[in-house]
Amino acid sequence: MEDLVHFINYRSYALHNLHHIMQAERFSAEEKFEMEVVGNVLPFKTNNYVINELIDWDNVPNDPIFRLTFPHKDMLLPPHFDEMANALKKNLSKTELKAVANKIRMQLNPHSDGQMANNVPMLDGTKLTGIQHKYDQTVLFFPSQGQTCHAYCSFCFRWPQFVGMDEMKFAMKEGELLVDYVRKNKNVTDVLFTGGDPLIMKTKILAGYIDKLLDANIENLQTIRLGTKALGYWPYRFTMDDDADDLLILFEKVVAKGINLSIMAHFNHPVELSTNAVEVAIRRIRNTGAQIRTQSPVLRHINDSPDIWAEMWRRQVNLNCIPYYMFVTRDTGAQHYFAVPLVESWEIFRKAYQQVSGICRTVRGPSMSANPGKVQILGVSEITDEVVTKKIITLRFLQGRNKDWVAQPFFAEYNPDALWLDDLKPAFGNKFFFEEEFERKYNRSITDTDSINLQ
Ligand SMILES: *Cc1c(COP(=O)(O)O)cnc(C)c1O
Ligand code: SF4
Repeated sequence: MEDLVHFINYRSYALHNLHHIMQAERFSAEEKFEMEVVGNVLPFKTNNYVINELIDWDNVPNDPIFRLTFPHKDMLLPPHFDEMANALKKNLSKTELKAVANKIRMQLNPHSDGQMANNVPMLDGTKLTGIQHKYDQTVLFFPSQGQTCHAYCSFCFRWPQFVGMDEMKFAMKEGELLVDYVRKNKNVTDVLFTGGDPLIMKTKILAGYIDKLLDANIENLQTIRLGTKALGYWPYRFTMDDDADDLLILFEKVVAKGINLSIMAHFNHPVELSTNAVEVAIRRIRNTGAQIRTQSPVLRHINDSPDIWAEMWRRQVNLNCIPYYMFVTRDTGAQHYFAVPLVESWEIFRKAYQQVSGICRTVRGPSMSANPGKVQILGVSEITDEVVTKKIITLRFLQGRNKDWVAQPFFAEYNPDALWLDDLKPAFGNKFFFEEEFERKYNRSITDTDSINLQ
């Protein structure tokens, strides 16, 4: 690691030790109180890399990474903010505060345990609680030791996990069960490790899972994916952490086995691709033969402009990463703060897409991970039948609960305010082509949320 001089230890910050951050001196007492109010409802955690290398403190509070990781007053609706503010002023006990927080959280569409249970497969009568399987080819695996992150994104839809509302319950011997499940389901080609962030795990623990998959010689297994924000929040995971070298050796081993290893890297803003540490980390990962694919939602206050996206994709490609998905922010937590309407998201996508060469256009989106599947907004058009002109939105499934739905265009009435699939009405007829089957087979409506989607 000739280009890195200092050894840096991971230091995590949350409300209780916020005053240890040198830069926190600049906050007024009122600002600190506002952070405390929001941070008591939504999870807050950041670290020394984010604070010292990513945030431009001269640009705070509008700095995108500050917005991404620090709590802000507007992330709670005024009545919720006031409720928690009053509770804090009353000096309630920890238990009482938690009760107030949970009451507010319940109103933020946290996805109940019942919903968590959907898509959890069975194997020989055992419920595989660390596995979720929605689309034919890809199984999601939630290793129990990977249920946190190096910092938290304030828009994250996994927030109920982090505040302990959705206790993820895991089976014993989950690694063996994963192997059995993939072996018995021949249509599964991909195993996607997710969390939290699976790279929060020590290499030894991760290797335990991956070695089991490799040693099992499963014929249908083609790709192992690691969904992670470590390149954005803690690139030292691949460079200077004491088990970084072992991690890269593990990557090499997967590749040598003839299995595609894809790091599904989450980047929200080009600044995350600007440090020496992330450059070195990416180069080291690429040297193992692993690929890096990138994804992010469109977020108000953070990346809601075409230029930011164009710059981000170009920078990713220059660093030999492959742009993969642009997502729509989900309907949970601080959605009112981060949400960008579907039509505007598509405009951002289109204007960014126009600025970059075909090499960057591997990206697909904007896509919403709705209950029936991943739905891409293809665009807005005007259609005329001589008498009337009508504006419509064309959509299609990138992934569907039923694979027959994939790549079939469908049409919704133009609605510039729509934030999600359930805000859209069919442009023709009174149901979307998949709706009846969806309701019948899955016994729910398209307005139900589904907590297991990836962003
Ligand atoms: C996005 C997603 C996947 C992976 O889909 P790809 O299009 O293959 O990247 C798998 N499972 C769920 C539940 C998802 O949301
Ligand atoms: S979006 Fe990913 S990295 Fe960010 S808090 Fe959620 S799980 Fe963690």
